[in-house]
Amino acid sequence: MQFHLNGFKPGNYQVPDEAREPDPPPPMADLPKEVDVLIVGCGPAGLALARQLADFANIKTCIVEQKSGPMLFGQADGISCRTMEIMEAFNSSELLVKEAYQLHQNAFWEPDARNPQRIKRTHKVADARLGLSEFTHGVVNQARLHDILLDGMVHSITHLVPHYNRRLLELAVDRSLTQDLRAHPVTATFERNDASQSGKVETVKARYVVGCDGARSVVRKSLGIELQGDSANKAWGVMDVLPITNFPDIRVKSFIQSKDNGAVMLVPREGGYLVRLYVELDLLGKDQRASQLNLSADDLIARARRIMNPYWLEVKEVAWWSIYEVGQRVAERFDDIPAGSPDGLVPRAFVAGDACHTHSPKGGWGLNTSLPDTFNLGWKLAAVLQGGSHPKLLRTYEAERRKVAFMLINADREMSALVATRPHAGKDASLAKTGTVDIENFIARQNGFIAGTSIGYDESWLCTGHENQALASGFPIGQRFHSARAVRVADGRPVQLGHLNKADGRWRIFIFGDAESPLDAASRSAGLIGFLADADTSPVKKYTPAGADVDSVIEVCAVFQQQDLAIEDMPDFLWPAKGKYGLRDYEKVFQTNEMHDIFEQRGIDRLNGCIVVVRPDQHIANILPLDAHAGLSRFFDGFMLR
Ligand code: FAD
Repeated sequence: MQFHLNGFKPGNYQVPDEAREPDPPPPMADLPKEVDVLIVGCGPAGLALARQLADFANIKTCIVEQKSGPMLFGQADGISCRTMEIMEAFNSSELLVKEAYQLHQNAFWEPDARNPQRIKRTHKVADARLGLSEFTHGVVNQARLHDILLDGMVHSITHLVPHYNRRLLELAVDRSLTQDLRAHPVTATFERNDASQSGKVETVKARYVVGCDGARSVVRKSLGIELQGDSANKAWGVMDVLPITNFPDIRVKSFIQSKDNGAVMLVPREGGYLVRLYVELDLLGKDQRASQLNLSADDLIARARRIMNPYWLEVKEVAWWSIYEVGQRVAERFDDIPAGSPDGLVPRAFVAGDACHTHSPKGGWGLNTSLPDTFNLGWKLAAVLQGGSHPKLLRTYEAERRKVAFMLINADREMSALVATRPHAGKDASLAKTGTVDIENFIARQNGFIAGTSIGYDESWLCTGHENQALASGFPIGQRFHSARAVRVADGRPVQLGHLNKADGRWRIFIFGDAESPLDAASRSAGLIGFLADADTSPVKKYTPAGADVDSVIEVCAVFQQQDLAIEDMPDFLWPAKGKYGLRDYEKVFQTNEMHDIFEQRGIDRLNGCIVVVRPDQHIANILPLDAHAGLSRFFDGFMLR
């Protein structure tokens, strides 16, 4: 898709440039007095949480933002493979895939050894992330991702829309009420900043609050949570421009290091014409802020031109620009339970996204870490609020995501140092290897982290079964379910199995059949299906509320290696009757074929098969042998409530 030819136009890229106008913000409405979940901030973290919770009719969610309407320009632009997968869980990946610039190559530029004042391309490589996911890394305006999440919210069962023009002033958590799950211990005070009622103060009481209010989070400060780490000492300029240039890699992500003028990271953007430039600026003095540098967009362009010499760069339009300075810092805790508290306390307040980790923009990891933060938290809040899970589930948010935050700032520290390293070309041939080659090596080494696909959670009661890992070596326990295709038995359609894992709060059990045909009643697959369907200890039977569809809490899908299967021969449990008419669900049984062999692709033991348990956030929770019926029950009994 091509757009922005005659100037940058924010809004819905499905609408042609000439007709595109940003949607008006929703009409102002009073804040509700009492809610289940209060979300502060409409960045990617807040919107992903709101998008998830909006699908639960019995959960009252409120999301509040200080700005006057949805974002239109700027900020993050990289959408990692994992973020794409999460958007697919919201049924929304297609638009992003179509609209985003798809990252397939990286180019590296350094001073020309023969004339170091001029840059020269050293090499161009395929992006190291290719193949880690069914999605490629995309580059698109953060505002567009917001729009897609907002669209999903307003069309959900709860028709959730943000309350704009409200600034959180303060937040209090009544400690005497926090362990009473029915109570609303959180009191948030907002001030309106719209023209009609500026200064009006409103109060909301909530069962839980999630501070998604960015790096200067008022929620974090109100909870007395400190950020730990280095504060900023380096500023970068960032701008989205419509350029004319003779720089040949203007449509390839390029790392450009000059001899004396610093570095530029060039990121082509959606629509075919737009380009983002990250321009390295000087080190900040102690206590100096980037705003004190008094730089303009023209200064950034001038610096970029010097770095990109001998190529010329004419900027026809600056769509957005900013000076960006951040240190690498992580919050000391991600919820309101102080360190050293007794076990078993239920947290009622959380921080997510930039509110609990800040870092530089170079890796494009801010959005791609913030959004998965709340993708981790959302289903847990929903499960506890609905009474389906023990509240101890809520403490796993901090345990799982704080580790990721440390991975993020460590990677960012390394990347920042590499990008700012001056190349030594022309002085000493051996030292020439310390320039962009190190960046390339870093990207290759960290590709799984950068793509978000190798991020995994440590062994815990929620991620267990490591003794059975060999049964499915390509599904590392704790990491997300790495999708692959299988063929649906009922209609022969090849389907991405990972796309069955929707963000609907349900657990999934994948049965990967062994060498015996499931049609044989004595086979282990048949035994497992019989257990899940009928045994009193079956987690499906135990935790599905009376009268609800059989797959409403735990969905069971099966993949078999045998070729002679027909849907009518399958046990009813695998194509159950559902809904008010008792219609059959034909979309749970799959088989392999020569082209689509998930057993081969994910290292599944063909002889023994296995059970793979997948959490509502798509991470692998457990792997078990097919006959481990008691083990499967024990796993769910560890946290699920009837
Ligand atoms: P944010 O996106 O910061 O969202 C927080 C939201 O909370 C905001 O909408 C804010 O208005 C709202 N809010 C804050 N305080 C209050 C309050 N008291 N009351 C009500 N609402 C409040 N990342 C990149 O990868 N590349 C970039 O080039 C890049 N550029 C950036 C430029 C700027 C100016 C900023 C601020 C960030 C940039 N980032 C960039 C970072 C990236 O945008 C963030 O990492 C990502 O958006 C974090 O998401 P979040 O939801 O945690 O927080």
